Amino acid sequence: MDAKLAVAQRVDALADELEALSHRIHDTPELAFKEEKAAAWLAEFLEKHGARVERGVGGLPTAFRATVDGTGAGPTVAIMAEYDALPGIGHACGHNVIATAGAGAGAAIAAALGTVPFAGRIQVIGTPAEEGGAGKVKLMEAGVFKDVDAAMMIHGRCGTQVWRPTLGIIKVKVEFHGQAAHASSWPWRGVNALNAVIQLFVSLDAMRQQLRPDARVHGVITRGGEQANIIPEYTSAEFYLRATTVDYCEELLRRFRAAAAGAATATGCRVTVTADPTVHEPLRPNATMAGLFARNLELIDFPEDPDDGQAGYGSTDCGNVSQRLPTIHPYIRISPDGVPGHSRDFAQWARSPLARMGMVAGAKALALTALDLLASPDALARAKQDFAKGEPA
Ligand SMILES: [Zn+2]
Ligand SMILES: [Zn+2]
Repeated sequence: MDAKLAVAQRVDALADELEALSHRIHDTPELAFKEEKAAAWLAEFLEKHGARVERGVGGLPTAFRATVDGTGAGPTVAIMAEYDALPGIGHACGHNVIATAGAGAGAAIAAALGTVPFAGRIQVIGTPAEEGGAGKVKLMEAGVFKDVDAAMMIHGRCGTQVWRPTLGIIKVKVEFHGQAAHASSWPWRGVNALNAVIQLFVSLDAMRQQLRPDARVHGVITRGGEQANIIPEYTSAEFYLRATTVDYCEELLRRFRAAAAGAATATGCRVTVTADPTVHEPLRPNATMAGLFARNLELIDFPEDPDDGQAGYGSTDCGNVSQRLPTIHPYIRISPDGVPGHSRDFAQWARSPLARMGMVAGAKALALTALDLLASPDALARAKQDFAKGEPA
């Protein structure tokens, strides 16, 4: 179809501008819900190329929605853009590439076609706070995805794979309350909350041996005491409990609570365990949309890579979107094989010539797949059937 060719060519024409924007976002890492500059730059870029932009949608100041209308009433296909960074290590998840691939797809459609030549509309939804804030869940609760029929995004990785599972997560905070005392002259009068948190880590390490191989339990101590001459009276830690199903995440939480209670008993502390009510859900696959995306990758000569099986799985708030409507979350190569996400290495690759290639390919494949879904009511109907028969989390 001519529209697809025109849009792909427009992505190429926009590539320098997109790369500059990607680098600007990379050089200005902003944390969850504070992505003011990135959101403003992306919204401005989409507006400049002809999309209709609403800022601060869903009650989140750093969310936005850019719409390119079609020829009349019809379905809505959304392309999601993330742009938050990680504390301390910047754009080590490459969300600058997600942002510019998504915005590039929308801008290329608007600039090349003016109006989408089919009924319906394409939207780029700027979704804040993927890293820790579950921004997409907040946007769904606020109704931003209410009229969306299908959603998609890309994520950078050390290989191109249209489908890879992601894990559900229950986030949990644990606090131990002990009693302060002089650590040298009256240690026996203290109740040591640091010992409790250390005991919890030890218990979890023992528990891990009896977990399913793809479950993950990992945490950091957020308060470990104040000064070495005071028996710590208060400590806290945060953990992620991850598994391939929400059911097993809940099983992990049950066992976590038992381990925390045991650590409290052993040390004489009081414990409180607070589970975050927002549960990250695993991705629900969508074979129809994945198939369209894979064909578009072939069309633009950016082939999928075999999964070398060297890495485990991450998680994403896109999983929650995928449990509500047909969704895909393909991975696009922006680094050589074997570079882990959330590493300083990956942060550098997210600003490299490979990242530019991934961004351009991602923008094209997203735009072409969105057009496919609007061009063919059949394809969209099949995507909805796939969704309906998918296993709920
Ligand atoms: Zn990440
Ligand atoms: Zn990410």
